[in-house]
Amino acid sequence: MSKQKQSITKKIDKPRCGLCGSTRKKLVKTECCGNWICDDEDDYVLFSYARNSCSRNHRRFTLCGFHHTEEHKGDWRECKECLDSFSHELEMYVWYGTNEYNFTKLDNPPKYKPTHCHKCGQVIVLSEGGYSSLGGAYFCENCEITDEEREEIIKNYKKRKNKYASAIFI
Ligand SMILES: [Zn+2]
Ligand SMILES: [Zn+2]
Ligand SMILES: [Zn+2]
Ligand SMILES: [Zn+2]
Repeated sequence: MSKQKQSITKKIDKPRCGLCGSTRKKLVKTECCGNWICDDEDDYVLFSYARNSCSRNHRRFTLCGFHHTEEHKGDWRECKECLDSFSHELEMYVWYGTNEYNFTKLDNPPKYKPTHCHKCGQVIVLSEGGYSSLGGAYFCENCEITDEEREEIIKNYKKRKNKYASAIFI
């Protein structure tokens, strides 16, 4: 009996980062969801775009972090404002809600059409970057936009979305 009891009494686990599992580094609780995470924002080199900081990744690249930063109400998984913010890029909404920087992921991520290069048709994975976009059209890294194409896209874009014409990328 007493032996059995002993095996049940486990060592109390040290808090560990919910993303990378580290127990060594300094940990903090996330502001958005109260999970333990590496307190490693200082490791991030400004403008390096490196994704080596757990807390930065969660804050910048998840709906949970976005939802909190934008001061939305309620649960991010049911937030219409989040969905609306990504309505032009549903693919990114799904990535934000399901990538490895999440503690909990979207249960039923919405279906989205893959993004294709406007010129060669190759599939572009938006979360991996390396593409350019113009007026709702995407170009893979192998395709350059000529001046004529640029004009054409902007012309069409203005026709389609007159009221958003001032918000053209690039
Ligand atoms: Zn971590
Ligand atoms: Zn969070
Ligand atoms: Zn939200
Ligand atoms: Zn292309």
